[in-house]
Amino acid sequence: MSTGGFPGRPVRPGDRLRPVPGTSGSLLVDNIGELVTNEGRPGDPLGIRRGAALLVEDGQVAWVGSSRDAPAADRRTDAGGAAVLPGFVDSHAHLVFAGDRAAEFAARMAGEPYTGGGIRTTVGATRAASDGDLRATVGRLRAEMLRQGTTTVEIKSGYGLNVADEARSLRIAAEFTEDTTFLGAHVVPAEYADRPDDYVGMVCGPMLAAAAPYARWIDVFCERGAFDADHARAILACGQAVGLGVRVHANQLGPGPGVQLGVELGAASVDHCTHLTDADIDALASRRIDCMCAEGEHTVTVATLLPGAEFSTRSPYPDARRLLDAGVTVALATDCNPGSSYTSSMPFCIALAVREMRMTPAEAVWAATAGGAAALRRTDVGRLTPGARADLIILDAPSHLHLAYRPGVPLIRQVLHNGVPR
Ligand SMILES: [Zn+2]
Repeated sequence: MSTGGFPGRPVRPGDRLRPVPGTSGSLLVDNIGELVTNEGRPGDPLGIRRGAALLVEDGQVAWVGSSRDAPAADRRTDAGGAAVLPGFVDSHAHLVFAGDRAAEFAARMAGEPYTGGGIRTTVGATRAASDGDLRATVGRLRAEMLRQGTTTVEIKSGYGLNVADEARSLRIAAEFTEDTTFLGAHVVPAEYADRPDDYVGMVCGPMLAAAAPYARWIDVFCERGAFDADHARAILACGQAVGLGVRVHANQLGPGPGVQLGVELGAASVDHCTHLTDADIDALASRRIDCMCAEGEHTVTVATLLPGAEFSTRSPYPDARRLLDAGVTVALATDCNPGSSYTSSMPFCIALAVREMRMTPAEAVWAATAGGAAALRRTDVGRLTPGARADLIILDAPSHLHLAYRPGVPLIRQVLHNGVPR
């Protein structure tokens, strides 16, 4: 995918591959019943191959083809006729926090509405936590994700909301992922409640300066009760000026300006997209970008849907069908956070997307892999073709269909991350 002219430093095949102990030599994954490559062909975006094998060398996919033609390798894994997929790319997660909000969830399930106000509860706990506590939480959730097949994750700040705690949140996040996102504009913290202009000035000034060295992206919660279009535009423009790519939390709780602001700024992704007008969808569909995928292009701005949030706030789900039929590129992500979506499970999100958002299983699996990669403007993950990172899942099932067909069942038999069994 070309990223020329768009912010968000691109990651390309072979970039940032750290030498990992145990990856020397080649590994053949053989006897694959159904291999999802995402190389795509007209009518088959998943690029499914049957009776396939895949060769891993130096942490990358070196060869894909028929089991009959498989080359020799130093080691061999027999997939036993199971399905093999690219590792999930979870492009939206808030993992740097302390405490939990189980009581708030229980109150919501007893009938109280979700307003986003509980974020401030987590801010208090996060500021009071030690670096070690925060690092342990990120590590625990990252490990939980890996066990469920997620090999790439984006991690946001947004529970520090002062200069020191936003910077340390991103510094810790950067220990776990390349895709770190500065979300100083999550909500206006209590101490700035009566002077939001001053808070926006702080986010654009000293907070951005302290956060930017650890961040690839900048994000704003553009919503009633959080940041309006003018504040969001100002913050995102400051981030772009120092080289950060743009993402937006948009149109979650009601219709609003977030989606069209994201398109205007060339955002890589607008996330949530629960309440969209026809004009929002037209704006998303109107700007396209060349890519390496089968379709040959994506929309510049991906619509990232987060059904865990609707599940956990008992809210109406976004309509993925409307976006897909308009030609908008769709990603699925967990939104993993302690308030509105405390799930780390991409298989759960796939099942919700199929059952509740009118996606086919194939569309949901594509959105959870290649779609997430598009939302992060990455071409090295989300597919299993030569040159891609050897991030893959061997399912305990013969087909990707089982991810939605058997909801809640632990179907991830084995995960390879950078070619290393985990
Ligand atoms: Zn979020």
